[in-house]
Amino acid sequence: MAEKTLNVFEIVQQQIKDACDALGETQEVYDILKQPKSCLEVAVPVKMDNGETKVFQAYRSLHNDAVGPGKGGLRFHQNVSMDEVKALSAWMTFKCGVAGIPYGGGKGGVIVDPTTMSQGEIERLARGVITALAPVIGDMKDIPAPDVNTNPQIMAWMVDEYSKLQGQNTLGIITGKPLELGGSLGRFEATGYGVALMTREAFKAKKMDIKGSKISIQGFGNVGRYAAKYLQDMGAKIVAASDVSCCLYDEKGLDIDKLFDYVKEPENKNMIKGFPGAEEMGRDDIFNIEVDALAPCALENAITSENVDNIKAKMVVEGANGPTTPEADKVLNEKGILVVPDILANGGGVMVSYFEWVQNLQNYYWTFEEVQEKQEIKMVKAFNDIFVIMEEYNVSMRVAAFMMSIKRVADAMRARGWVK
Ligand code: NDP
Repeated sequence: MAEKTLNVFEIVQQQIKDACDALGETQEVYDILKQPKSCLEVAVPVKMDNGETKVFQAYRSLHNDAVGPGKGGLRFHQNVSMDEVKALSAWMTFKCGVAGIPYGGGKGGVIVDPTTMSQGEIERLARGVITALAPVIGDMKDIPAPDVNTNPQIMAWMVDEYSKLQGQNTLGIITGKPLELGGSLGRFEATGYGVALMTREAFKAKKMDIKGSKISIQGFGNVGRYAAKYLQDMGAKIVAASDVSCCLYDEKGLDIDKLFDYVKEPENKNMIKGFPGAEEMGRDDIFNIEVDALAPCALENAITSENVDNIKAKMVVEGANGPTTPEADKVLNEKGILVVPDILANGGGVMVSYFEWVQNLQNYYWTFEEVQEKQEIKMVKAFNDIFVIMEEYNVSMRVAAFMMSIKRVADAMRARGWVK
């Protein structure tokens, strides 16, 4: 069965339609939500190191701001397109709705391959992008954050540029900043920690014990690594973990603390291959291993109609964005495998970004423990609320998550008088 190729914007429109239909929502609500409220395209001239000026296309889409200002990343990638940015901004509306944080959805992107640029060129691009987007962003309007190929340093240049334009420090304009410039403790760990919390809640919901359970994790980057660490702390055995280099297997459970140290050794180039004491397999073998839970934490389209039949897990917890194709999702649902959807499972990142913004606005900073405690309370509530909808409407957890989120946004639009 070949995958139908829908562009991401068509996929998100279909998801909105399915959830609106399941909720019995009105056509006018769907008509507002099926497209962004605004999408700006700008051309950003940047003086390159050789003295020439190059012009880069950049986009910022604000999908919906009924609940609060837009929130979402700003990526630097050669494949950025207007449709991609629009789709990602819509997902952000629903991810914020699921997390129960007072934001709408935004997203931005610049068509650029930053690996071909010097640090000076990247800094001038970052500052130029913020100048060009200044009319549509703001700490009460639309708040960018790091995304693919953008990082805390780039956020620091951007906040500096925006503050200069405003003539005052405006730390709340951007999140994902370095700690010394208004970043939040706990942000680095937040997404993986959230994946671990959502896995724990899924075990509880299925009346399974997480202690001694077997879990496999695809991807050992920021999300996969911390998901593995916190799940191990909760008593689970991480029997398999993969990255681009291979899949490691140990039926007694990999020692994740040691694996953390191993990948950090310069000679191991941030890869898990060669980790002593574990069996080494091909990286896609991660999908064939019998486990209680599988957490895809690498990239989109990891679970497809090609490999879905090999999956022997009781649940899939989506750490990555869009790791399951719609076809594979259908098969998992038919088999009764619980899929904890990305907009819930990896929502810890945006939640702690929200905490960063709150701390910036208050100019009062929380401890690591306070941040994690607040994250846990909000994420567990979101899980339980969605589980109730799932059981009441007899829909998948993904549809239930969209339903809860769309209801929140639709209620806010009604309160504002945008729709009947
Ligand atoms: P990283 O780049 O830090 O990590 C990605 C990991 O996936 C790396 O270990 C990479 O291996 C591995 N990988 C890539 N391709 C494969 C493959 N085919 N098989 C196995 N492993 C593979 O990214 P993040 O951890 O930050 O993000 C992961 C996902 O989570 C993305 O979808 C992202 O959009 C999403 N996400 C991230 C958030 C965050 O806060 N970081 C927030 C919300 C969502 P290698 O290093 O060897 O290339």
